[in-house]
Amino acid sequence: MKYVDEYRNSDIAKKYIDEIWKITKGHWMIMEVCGGQTHTIIRFNIDEVLPKNITFIHGPGCPVCVTPIEIIDKAIAIASMKDVIFCSFGDMLRVPGSNKDLFAVREEGGDVRVVYSPIDALKIAINNPDKEVVFFGVGFETTAPANAMAIYQAKKMGVKNFSVLVSHVLVPPAIESILKSPNNRVNGFLAAGHVCTVMGYTEYEPIAKKYKVPIVVTGFEPLDILQGVLMVVKQLEEGRYEVENQYTRSVRREGNIYAQNIIKEVFEVVDRTWRGIGGISSSGLGIKKNYEEYDANKKFNLDHIQSSEPEECISGLVLQGVKKPYECKAFGTLCTPEHPLGAPMVSSEGACAAYYNYKLNKV
Ligand code: SF4
Repeated sequence: MKYVDEYRNSDIAKKYIDEIWKITKGHWMIMEVCGGQTHTIIRFNIDEVLPKNITFIHGPGCPVCVTPIEIIDKAIAIASMKDVIFCSFGDMLRVPGSNKDLFAVREEGGDVRVVYSPIDALKIAINNPDKEVVFFGVGFETTAPANAMAIYQAKKMGVKNFSVLVSHVLVPPAIESILKSPNNRVNGFLAAGHVCTVMGYTEYEPIAKKYKVPIVVTGFEPLDILQGVLMVVKQLEEGRYEVENQYTRSVRREGNIYAQNIIKEVFEVVDRTWRGIGGISSSGLGIKKNYEEYDANKKFNLDHIQSSEPEECISGLVLQGVKKPYECKAFGTLCTPEHPLGAPMVSSEGACAAYYNYKLNKV
């Protein structure tokens, strides 16, 4: 535990907190992009120890939360088919589709399996040549390299019974869409450290300049968040708008070139719909034509599926930082982790789950 403890040291935390109190003059709204950062902020009460004129706005960086309901419904339809083995990361199984979730499909006899990597799903395909094996490939730039590698390997090995239902989303277009919105309240961003580990942060530099907004690449432990906030507030108080890197132990400006190359080999930038937010142009990754035989969306041709969101769920407003989870009428009553109405209550990175687990008795 030593490695984690270093980033939870209370003496260092106090120094950061004191410094933030000393320099904060204006009222600043800071968006932490990643749901993992939201959980750290809420779990360690970071929002409560900082000056009242710093407000955290929770961002759209929860991959489970932003996967559109149409894709969940397609996953459910494919997983329900005979002779299909449907493989997914565990947290996608409880995300509600229009009528049910993947757990329900499993209870009804579907072969739905939890795997820890897309390569595991590829191995299942190799070992089950009489079945169609489909991997549910969701997430941000972080998960894209492994998914691309599985597709690349499948093609290289000539595996024909493997495909990926892809719903990748990209962070920079989402940040830009938030900044362009008439509802925007964000003064500065804590960018997601793991996304930048893959992609670097050159894509953020024109955004910081164009919208005059500081962006600090930040990690996920309490000291990371406090140092990230300090760096954002310093810039805001000094009238600077730059991209800075708090997460130097993992992130280089140019990112991981090998990971970027495999993404470029297999995927291309496409328009993507974000659950609760809507369409954002050039905000996703889709499988290139050269690899289309591994695209489950094309293989199973399910574009006719009609989806519908539960009316009570305001996850779109939560994901854009316009509302807090406890401002949703269903929070903690109709919607709980046991009976979620929306994905932000399901996911380990969802803002609604963070408030439910760590703050329910305080809001
Ligand atoms: S509390 Fe539940 S219903 Fe409300 S926004 Fe969150 S996920 Fe949706």
